[in-house]
Amino acid sequence: MTAIGQILCRIGLHRWGRKRGYDEYSSNVIEWEQRCERCGKRKRWVEAKRDRRR
Ligand SMILES: [Zn+2]
Repeated sequence: MTAIGQILCRIGLHRWGRKRGYDEYSSNVIEWEQRCERCGKRKRWVEAKRDRRR
């Protein structure tokens, strides 16, 4: 089996699957998580919510 995908992962070109958002009601940010379908590496980031509910 050619491990071309693993090579891509090693140089940082991951195959990111669908992202999941953790929308905490009390928080004003959304926590996103995305996982590589090949190597399982995860990346997380936060995003500010656009709607200004005060
Ligand atoms: Zn990967």
